[in-house]
Amino acid sequence: MPKVKETEILIVGGGPAGLSAASAAANLGASVLVLERDGKPGGQLIKQTHKFFGSKKQYAGDRGYQIGDLLIEQCRNNPNLEVWTDTTVLGIYEDGVVTAEGQGKHLKITPKKIIVATGASEKMIAFPNNDLPGIYGAGAVQTLMNVHGIVPGKRVLMIGAGNIGLIVSYQLMQAGVEIAAIIEAAPTIGGYLVHASKIRRAGVPILTSHTITEAYGDEGVEGAIICKLDESWQPVLGSEQDLKVDVVCLAVGLSPLTELCFQADCQMKYVPELSGHVPVRSEYLETTRPGLYVAGDVSGVEEASSAMVEGRLAGISAACSLGYGEDIAPKLQAEALAELSELRAGPAGQKTLRGIINLMDKGGVVC
Ligand SMILES: Cc1cc2nc3c(=O)[nH]c(=O)nc-3n(C[C@H](O)[C@H](O)[C@H](O)COP(=O)(O)OP(=O)(O)OC[C@H]3O[C@@H](n4cnc5c(N)ncnc54)[C@H](O)[C@@H]3O)c2cc1C
Repeated sequence: MPKVKETEILIVGGGPAGLSAASAAANLGASVLVLERDGKPGGQLIKQTHKFFGSKKQYAGDRGYQIGDLLIEQCRNNPNLEVWTDTTVLGIYEDGVVTAEGQGKHLKITPKKIIVATGASEKMIAFPNNDLPGIYGAGAVQTLMNVHGIVPGKRVLMIGAGNIGLIVSYQLMQAGVEIAAIIEAAPTIGGYLVHASKIRRAGVPILTSHTITEAYGDEGVEGAIICKLDESWQPVLGSEQDLKVDVVCLAVGLSPLTELCFQADCQMKYVPELSGHVPVRSEYLETTRPGLYVAGDVSGVEEASSAMVEGRLAGISAACSLGYGEDIAPKLQAEALAELSELRAGPAGQKTLRGIINLMDKGGVVC
């Protein structure tokens, strides 16, 4: 018989959103269990060696992995909180039972509230031979280099000039890998110009309005053909270039990892500004399935800073709905909402806000 574990709040995913939700709820007195499929909690932060931008309140100036260590430490010292690693949540069922696989065992958990904080997955693009060994996602390259100390190859074509493409290119250069070029289909660079300028100063071309038409090679990538795109995003004939590379790295965006929300029958909506299908939810991050909250990239791809604040908001709201901290919860919720507004005040944040408004307006639940 599978083991049954009871908890007041179950958190799926131990990234910045999940860990922040866990300590916020446990600090108010709720018993919390975090399930993390990886061997170590921290989510994307454990591989991020660069210093974070943003607000001092969300650790700007610290390196990602240091922020991860800090969040883990906050959880470690809390007697109301357990974190189980190497444990993957498999399903959330109608009767409220959650199933998971951990260390070779099938587990059943019966929580009163659930917070899904599963993050996001990398997007792929279609081109001939995109399944050759040597084609990587940028997150995978970061894990390989910064967690396992392995470089993916000798010469890389980076696709995507958003922040992830720029940061991972710079980290590859620091590890002694040559970047043949960074190409970007849009007419402008999407990431921060401070990162782009550093890379250009090192002699790496960043080619906007360019795409990959194919990769080639026998056993693995030996090269890639790129070409220019016109104003209608169509290939310009005769503009093809053949780049000899052994790695093609895709940094073309992330999609919210929402399978569990679909399976739990939350109402879902496609919102381009939030990078894909996301669950419709209230201002306090409760979905249309009562008692199931979301936080972080799963609720719309943003940044670790907003993921941590959303996690805190979801944790406080879930604990408060169980009767914990009712006297201070409204103040804490208002503080978290104000921090989210501050974080979303810039141009990227405005796009997110448009997405959230769109989500709430059409069939959404508004508190
Ligand atoms: C290269 C790069 C640079 C970045 N730079 C910055 C920056 O400078 N500033 C900034 O604020 N943000 C930055 N970000 C973004 C930031 O890392 C993410 O927005 C943030 O990690 C999202 O947090 P999260 O907790 O929602 O998801 P994640 O960090 O992805 O954590 C989700 C966790 O859930 C776990 N999980 C998923 N499914 C299951 C399951 N079924 N069962 C159990 N566990 C599960 C995963 O293993 C993971 O640990 C960067 C991202 C990248 C890739």
